[in-house]
Order: sequence, then structure tokens, then C-alpha cells
Amino acid sequence: MYARVIIDITHEKLDKVFEYSIPPELDGVLRTGMEVIVPFGRGNRQTSGYIVGFTEKPDYAPDHIKEILQIADGRRAIESKLVTLAAWMKENYGGTMIQALKTVLPIKKKGKLLKKRLVCLLLDEDEGKKQLDFYMNKNQKARARLLAGLLDQPRQEYELITKKLHVPASVIRTLEEQGVLSVEEQQAFRSPWSLHMADQRRNRHEIVLSPEQRQAADLFIKDYDQGKYGTYLLYGVTGSGKTEVYMEMISHVVAKGCQAIVLIPEIALTYQTVLRFYGRFGDRVSILNSRLSPGERSDQMERVGRGEVDVMIGPRSALFTPFSNLGLIVIDEEHETAYKSEQVPRYHARETAVMRGRLEGASVVLGSATPSLEAFCRCEKGEYTCLTLANRVAKKELAAVYTVDMREELRRGNRSVLSDRLSELITDRLQKGQQIMLFLNRRGYAGFVSCRSCGYVVKCSHCDVSLSAHKNGRLVCHYCGYEEPAVKECPSCGSPYIGGFKMGTEAIEDLIKRRFPQAGVLRMDMDTTRTKDGHEKILSAFANGEADILIGTQMIVKGHDFPNVTLVGVLAADMSLYTDDYRAAERTFALLTQAAGRAGRGRKRGEVVIQTYSPEHYSIACAARQDYEGFYEEEMRYRRLMGYPPAAELLAVLVTGEDEEHLNTAAGYLKEFARRAGGDRGLQIIGPASPFVGKVSDVYRRVIYLKSRDYQLLITVKNYMEQYIEINKGFQTLRVQFDFNPLNIF
Ligand code: ADP
Ligand code: ZN
Ligand code: ZN
Repeated sequence: MYARVIIDITHEKLDKVFEYSIPPELDGVLRTGMEVIVPFGRGNRQTSGYIVGFTEKPDYAPDHIKEILQIADGRRAIESKLVTLAAWMKENYGGTMIQALKTVLPIKKKGKLLKKRLVCLLLDEDEGKKQLDFYMNKNQKARARLLAGLLDQPRQEYELITKKLHVPASVIRTLEEQGVLSVEEQQAFRSPWSLHMADQRRNRHEIVLSPEQRQAADLFIKDYDQGKYGTYLLYGVTGSGKTEVYMEMISHVVAKGCQAIVLIPEIALTYQTVLRFYGRFGDRVSILNSRLSPGERSDQMERVGRGEVDVMIGPRSALFTPFSNLGLIVIDEEHETAYKSEQVPRYHARETAVMRGRLEGASVVLGSATPSLEAFCRCEKGEYTCLTLANRVAKKELAAVYTVDMREELRRGNRSVLSDRLSELITDRLQKGQQIMLFLNRRGYAGFVSCRSCGYVVKCSHCDVSLSAHKNGRLVCHYCGYEEPAVKECPSCGSPYIGGFKMGTEAIEDLIKRRFPQAGVLRMDMDTTRTKDGHEKILSAFANGEADILIGTQMIVKGHDFPNVTLVGVLAADMSLYTDDYRAAERTFALLTQAAGRAGRGRKRGEVVIQTYSPEHYSIACAARQDYEGFYEEEMRYRRLMGYPPAAELLAVLVTGEDEEHLNTAAGYLKEFARRAGGDRGLQIIGPASPFVGKVSDVYRRVIYLKSRDYQLLITVKNYMEQYIEINKGFQTLRVQFDFNPLNIF
């Protein structure tokens, strides 16, 4: 037996597996995931690596193979668990072991640990002033400058003093000897939040959980104390106080000496949210976000390694925080698409969290007002435990929702994007000095074609997903490849008002400013949030009442609580309904429900106007009633009928290459191979089709879909395909990626 070892995952050049022989004393002891010390390179430098597997037939001549020296000390036991997790991810999501390891292991860019030195004044004000006079009289300018600076601000950073006040180090030393000041050293962890947070703990007022919240937390706690680590779905309407329940659970786990990870969609990782966690757990909270530099990330991990952190909050990647005693993983807004990785391995944080929990004896709590169909379905099957919060806290009512049929508006001669109802309510709120959010549902940029007179949408007759307009004018199904020519008039009612809906946030802003010149307007979209903290600035400005109306894309739907918002308008609610995507209805329902949940968070009851061309569609009708379960039933019926997840399992195989003809041939062979590998076991194969973006910078793309009720069968076929691709020369110039239960049709 030989061990397959990965030496260093941070070096692209070493992006391969090395083989080592196993000394007799380690025979039968070594396991996948263990860290070992091996000789490496010409000089046989001792270095460490991870075992990623074993083989009986090495690729190299056996007498050239070196021997493993020893197992690395147990210090990094946690990493071996993460390596096991990586192996599971490779198996379940495809890709190479190195890609999986890079995803789970913290990068050890051990740069210098930043030490921050502080210069601190030791004298009180009177003494200080006396001493200052003394320096002035003696014309000791540098000393006077330094002391004056410290009297102004008694604790200052060393570097700032030498640079800003131009005080040489020798002067600081002299004053230190004279007992005027002291130089203190502290580790500078560049946590972007901690400085502002220090004072927050004092302001915290105790919250007493409602009976419903208490019941949810207690059920979890009871299981936990009995050593039952499971997966829970905290299904609670918007504003039902889910975060308080998470914190109660985390407190319990931390009190037992364990740690917790809280995943939050990046977009909702706002000052307000983070503040609540600091308020409860103080400095033992750490935050990751994508804006941190590698150094800052590494600092956070360093703190984790030293046991200084109990709670890590962050987006998807925080799931791999190397806690030594992980007790709980919380995934807030678990239905969010951001939890699925777009890079190989294309893992889903939900399933990966459940697996990590199983490996480490930790529980997983998923939270949402609009759970993913996957999560709710597993609750029905009894795989997850459902904890329900049916009411908003403090008996606040859900907002009243009105649906406006935009076809009707057009018939009455109103061609504006604002319905009469919404305009009236905006005027009313402006008069009352209350705030308004206008939400433009823009997810449907993909180019579906619909009729503004009757709402008809052109769909694929084979797949029941909408056709997309391509530049060449043809309408194409990205799912099965079906095509038809573009339409000039509506096939259903004959109206010429058929086409794509094009209206951006900027155009809406102009329109609103013209219609309501007296209103203060803020806009939040990709353009206005490009700068660092752009998000936060707009949200805080709105929260501070600096504007009456906030216009934005889906990014305004989450995170902040705005007590003064009493009206939410949803423009073009159907935009996200007809993307060429089987999850379109689920997304639309979630977006509308979350948007409606923004209204009436304060003392005044809120109102919501949903403008749509298809008020009868169940995702819109159910969202208007805030009826998740009704939606779930309807949507599951559709998924079962069409064989889409979670009723069945779906594997997308994306093949890309520069030579279109060669790509077509290879994709055809691959499909044929997959058919032979799994065809007689109930595997359904669709495609190869040209995905929405059929070509990116001269690289062509084709996609094959494999469907089955049996996830394991898909994994088996994937493994066969991987082998086939590796030995088959025809694939050397192509790239093949696997995506299990994709969120988008490519
Ligand atoms: P969700 O995440 O379910 O939308 P949050 O946890 O954000 O809800 O709670 C909404 C608001 O209600 C927050 O301002 C929170 O502080 C407050 N809140 C939650 N639980 C309670 C409680 N038991 N008593 C008083 N206020 C609460
Ligand atoms: Zn029509
Ligand atoms: Zn089709």
C-alpha cells in the first residue's frame, strides 16, 4: 500500500498528489485526512502534508518512492476532520481533492502578526499641564508637542505619534523614563467591527423570549443535553424573533464549552445584525466577510486557534472555521441562493453543514420565513425537526397586502410603471412623514418574453420553463435546446405589446423624483453600493430618516429593521417568475414574502402593494396571503410532475471548450457514456443543450442534465464519467464541471 499525499495546497505548482510508501510501524494506522511529515524535494526537506487516499499501484517506480517519516503531532486534529469533510465534498459535488481542500482548510498566510503599540499618558490633567509649561519654558519642542497631543487624546497609536506629530522614538523613550507616559503593546486584530462595538454591551436591554420562542429554544436544548445532535428548521414568519432564538441556543452551547458558527447571507451582514451578537457575546464574537483582506482573515483564524472565539459569524465560507469543539451551526435565511458555491466544488452550505455536524457531533439549525423546498421536504420526511414561530413578536400584525393587476391598469390607460393605488399610498405616506420602500424585482433579466396586455409568457412546450430571447432573435429553451422564431404579436390575445420588460432602478428613481418632487429619495443597487460600506451608508441614512423613499433591488429586502416604513411597493413582481429556471416560482415567493415582511415593523401597521401581470399565479397569490404552506403544496406538485428537485435529484454536467465542433462531439460521447453507465437503472438524460450564455470569451458551453430519484446513482455515474474523462484524450482540451441540484439552469 502507498499513501497519496498532498504537500501544500497554497502552491499552484504543487497542485498534484505525491505518493509515499508506508513504514511498517505506521501500517494500518494511517487514515485519510491525517497530517504526516514527509521528506520532500531534492534536499529531502521535512514538510507536512495530508493523506488524501491510498493506492496499491503507484504511478512511479517503487524504488523512487520515499517513505513517510511520522504522523504530525495531534495539534491539528481539527484539520483532519476538515480533510474528511473535503473528501466527502469531492465525492458529492465533483472536482479534485485539491479544490476541495482549498475550500475547507484555512489559508496559513502567516504574515507578521501585527503588534499595535499604544502610547498612554500617565499624568492627570493638572500634572500634565504643569509639565507642558516646563517643556515650553525649556524650549523642548518635540516633548511639548508630544505631551500636548496626549493631553488632547491620552491614548494614541505609536505609529501615529511618530508620523503625525513628528516625534522621534528617542523622545518617547525619554518621557517614558520620566514617568510621563507608558508604551503598551497589544495584539492588533484587525476586526473591522470590534472597535465600535466595545460600548454596546452596556446599552443592552434584556429580552425575555415569548412562549413560542422559549418552546423552540427549549426543544433544541433538551435534545442537546441528551447528546442528540440533529438538524432543525426554525420556520418563523418575518419578524418572529428568530435571531433571539439562535442566540439563546448559542448561549447554551457556549456555556457547555463548545463553539458556534452563524452563517448569514453577506447582504444581511449589516451593522445592526452584528451589533446584536456583540451585545450578547461581546469580544468572543468574530466576523468574516468578503471584504476582509487575507491578513485580516488569517488574524481571525489565529484567534480561533487560540480559543479566543466562541461565535463566528460570516457568509458561506465561515462554515469551515476550524473550531476544536464545534457544537452548533446556524444558517440564517437558509433558502438564500448565496449558500450554494458557484466554484468547484459546487457545494451547498446546508448539506455540507449537516455533514460537518455529523462528523463533529454538532447540531445544525436552519432558519427562514420561506424555507427552501429541500428543507421543508426533509421536515416532512422526519429527517429534520421543525420548530415553528407562527407569530410576530409583541403581537405585531403582518402587513395588509394588495395585489394590483397591471393588465387592468393598461386597459384603463395607465401606462406608467406605478399603479394608481401605489401612487395614492405614496402620497399619503409622504404627507404623514412615514417611510416607503420600493422594490424592483429584477431577477428576471434573463430575457423572458411576455405580453403586457394579457400577461401571457412564452414557454417551452417540453419543459414548462420560459423561453429566452437570444440576440439573434430566436426564442430558446436552455433546458432541452428547443428553439422557435421570435413572436411579433401575442399568441394568446394578439396584442403587439409583447416583449421583454426593461426598466432599471435608475429609471424608476427618475420617475419617482418627477412624480414626487418633495420626497427625499435614496437608491440602492449594484451601482450605488460599489464602494466599501456603500450598503451600510445607504441603509443607515434611510434608517436615520434622511430620505422618505428607498428604491432598490432585492438587496433592500434583508437585514435592516426600519420601524418607520409603513408602505412597501413591489414593482413588476413577476419579473423573477419567468426566468428559464425551475426554481423561479420559489424565488419569487420568497422575495415577495420577505419584501412584504419589511412593512410595519414598528408600532404602525404596514401596507404592501404587489404589482403584477399574473395575480392568479400561485406564487404571487400565496405570497400576498403570506401562506407558505399553500405555496409549498402547489410547488411540490409541480416539481413531482416535472421530476425536478427535491422531488428528484438533478446533476448538471457543464462541458466547455474553444472548438465548437469538437465540443459537440465530446458532449455527445459523454451523454452516450452516461446513458450506458446508468441508463437501465432509472437515469433520465436531457441535452446536451446550449446554456443561456452559450459562449463566454470564445469558449463554448454545453450542458447535459442527468435526473434520477437516487442521489447515489448520480454520484456513481459522476465517478464513472470522471474516469472516462481522465483516460480519454478527446477531453484534454475541454473542461467538465459537475453541479448537483443546481440553483440555476446554466
Ligand atoms: P426575524 O429574524 O425572525 O425576522 P428578529 O430576530 O430580527 O426577527 O426580531 C425582530 C425584532 O423583534 C428585533 O428587533 C428583536 O430585537 C425583537 N425581538 C425579538 N424577540 C423579542 C422578544 N422576545 N421580546 C421583545 N423583542 C423581541
Ligand atoms: Zn396577450
Ligand atoms: Zn425545453
